[in-house]
Amino acid sequence: MDKVNQLVDWLRQSTKTVVLTGAGMSTESGVPDFRSKSGWWRNIDPSTVANIQALEHDYDLFHAFYCARFEALKGCEPHEGHRILADWEKRGIIVHVATQNVDGFHKAAGNTKVDELHGSIHAVRCHKCGHEASAQAFFEQETCTVCEGKLRPGIVLFGELLPEDAWNSALHTIKTADLVIVIGTSLQVYPVNQLPSMTRGKLVYINREVHGFERDFDLLFEGSAKETLQQIDAALKG
Ligand code: NAD
Repeated sequence: MDKVNQLVDWLRQSTKTVVLTGAGMSTESGVPDFRSKSGWWRNIDPSTVANIQALEHDYDLFHAFYCARFEALKGCEPHEGHRILADWEKRGIIVHVATQNVDGFHKAAGNTKVDELHGSIHAVRCHKCGHEASAQAFFEQETCTVCEGKLRPGIVLFGELLPEDAWNSALHTIKTADLVIVIGTSLQVYPVNQLPSMTRGKLVYINREVHGFERDFDLLFEGSAKETLQQIDAALKG
């Protein structure tokens, strides 16, 4: 049996399938990832800017980086792969999506059960008091209207804790899943990279690079997230 049909079999047998995604899920929407060098901004490793240190002590650099990330999202929208995952939720094929992405594309595509483990870039707030602000206020480098604190996107920076509700929900659904499909993540960012190993179910990896992960997964697809999902969807319907 080929790999696509093997996965279709598992999807049909599973009563609880969960999907875990990363930046590679959105590159085919035109949003750059972090790990591929083509995704870097001004040749700077994003992990050196997307952190508390930069926010608190080098705000101009932090601000320019996130303005560029907002800019990169302009005109981008969910692709067919996102829409397939939304359709799978409607058809009861998957029960949940946990994502490291901050672009909001899973919800925009129609998934309703989504844990945004790294928050959302669209939810701008004050770093000091948490008061909500608009993206426009962030672009214009305004300060918080309540406490004059620095504004920031509502994402989890390197070195920050993950939102507790989203983490607990993802942990529980992954632990108790029959099948977990991991898509478009380098699995380098802690603690999300620990989640796949916590399931009791079967593990599938869809990524452009899968080398080195052969022992950790039951099935690996090396290639495009969108095209692989399209192939699986066609086989499911066939
Ligand atoms: P990453 O950049 O570390 O890894 C992305 C992985 O996806 C790589 O292994 C790459 O080979 C693979 N990939 C790229 N395009 C692909 C495609 N079309 N199909 C299949 N695989 C593809 O991403 P990460 O593991 O999610 O960690 C990066 C962190 O940066 C996350 O915390 C995330 O919050 C953040 N981030 C988010 C976005 C977004 O919201 N779209 C974009 C960039 C970074």
